[in-house]
Amino acid sequence: MSQPDLYVGKIVHFVGVSDQVRGRHLPAIVVRILEDQVNRVVLTIFTDQIESGVASSSRREPSVSYSAEMAPGTWHDIEECHRPREKT
Ligand SMILES: [Zn+2]
Repeated sequence: MSQPDLYVGKIVHFVGVSDQVRGRHLPAIVVRILEDQVNRVVLTIFTDQIESGVASSSRREPSVSYSAEMAPGTWHDIEECHRPREKT
């Protein structure tokens, strides 16, 4: 498994766990890096308020591990195809 580049403020994907967003790749920002465990972070996750059915459009996920396999409840680098294209 390659080591992802990790820093506070990085935007990543969190794979949804609960019913409405299960398996969905949600935008999230790394707000803290947990030093004691490799690639484990605190995330603030952003959801579509209407789709998710919850009152708040962001929530804290206190301990999220990295998964290159993109398992629910984990984070990963945003796939190349979802990144903005470079200006020409
Ligand atoms: Zn993703």
